[in-house]
Amino acid sequence: MMNENRVRWVGIQSEAVKASASGLLSRMGFLSVPGSRYLVFPGFCDVHVHLREPGFSDKETIRTGTMAAARGGYTTVCAMPNLRPVPDSVATLEQELAIIRRDAVVQVLPYGAITVGEKGAELADLAGMAPWVCGFSDDGRGVQDEAVMYKAMTRARELGKVIAAHCEDNRLLRGGYIHDGEYARAHGHKGICSESEYGQIARDLELVRRTGCRYHVCHVSTKESVDLLRQAKAEGLDVSCETAPHYLVLCDGDLQEDGRFKMNPPLRGPEDREALLAGVLDGTIDMIATDHAPHTPAEKSRGLVGSPFGVVGLETAFPVLYTALVRQNILSIERLAALMCAAPRARFGIPPDEGDYTVFDIFRPYAVRPAEFASKGRSSPFTGRLVWGRCVLTVHRGRVVYAANDARL
Ligand SMILES: [Zn+2]
Repeated sequence: MMNENRVRWVGIQSEAVKASASGLLSRMGFLSVPGSRYLVFPGFCDVHVHLREPGFSDKETIRTGTMAAARGGYTTVCAMPNLRPVPDSVATLEQELAIIRRDAVVQVLPYGAITVGEKGAELADLAGMAPWVCGFSDDGRGVQDEAVMYKAMTRARELGKVIAAHCEDNRLLRGGYIHDGEYARAHGHKGICSESEYGQIARDLELVRRTGCRYHVCHVSTKESVDLLRQAKAEGLDVSCETAPHYLVLCDGDLQEDGRFKMNPPLRGPEDREALLAGVLDGTIDMIATDHAPHTPAEKSRGLVGSPFGVVGLETAFPVLYTALVRQNILSIERLAALMCAAPRARFGIPPDEGDYTVFDIFRPYAVRPAEFASKGRSSPFTGRLVWGRCVLTVHRGRVVYAANDARL
């Protein structure tokens, strides 16, 4: 039995190497070897992660964050700039790049900030940073000043770079921290209204019409946002968007009085989740990103009110979506592969690497256990959930960067 398994495993590996080297893997999106329990993908690409370094290495480091990526099947991640220092100039960006060169186990492409210090006032050195960044973002906060966003889009357009917008109108927040829906009302919590997101998307789409900027909306969470983006695409604007697994699988009805259910934007209502799914199915939503946002266990132990926003996602994204959507025949495996591999690479101009692939065992279910995460962050809304799809091997540029304990190499 042992021998038979070993032979099968070596067979899968050589199939993966052949398919990857010939370009077949990235063309097909995935490979299912007949009669085997393994699916092979060309390495997932997540355009929205927080690796917390430099500045917040008690939450995560480039090393632990990229090990978590490898353990989740990712070979490329794009790192958000809410760091200390914020990468808003060549000099500050270089500090982040130096750690990436030293410690990253998968490809990390940083975002440059849109504004100096992500303060929303003065434009960062977009032209200086352009050669090293995947795009520009002030993620963590919305750019409140329309004139600043207009200038940023004009500059990004000249540079041929994407603006990835965290859309949030601070005037509408009113101290909210979960969705302004049934759960908030029933349990006496302060809600964040949907308009704080879609209102700013509507403003930005008007700026896209005027500037022709390549525009990407981060973590879309409301039904109105999906409608706006569907119309914008029909109109021919150069727009794209992402959503995260938790918005597709959970809603405010799943909330518990626990910090692991607190993120920004918040889990919305059931009708929002349905609209996001429809958006994924009709192509309005282009890609899945995790918004992996680790904090220390102590920080996340303060309930819905006192915990900071953000949950981890790199090590659960594929199994959660495979289990909830593919196994339920809501989404095809081809479409999920495109959402996690080809689409983000195409939009952000990140070429696939022939030496990248990842192998998942889809045969045996298991429970999500944060204690096993490579990430320093342990706060996940999926803790304890039974899922199918376990990453057993991730190879980046021909080197094994993750292998499950029982993987036979
Ligand atoms: Zn954000």
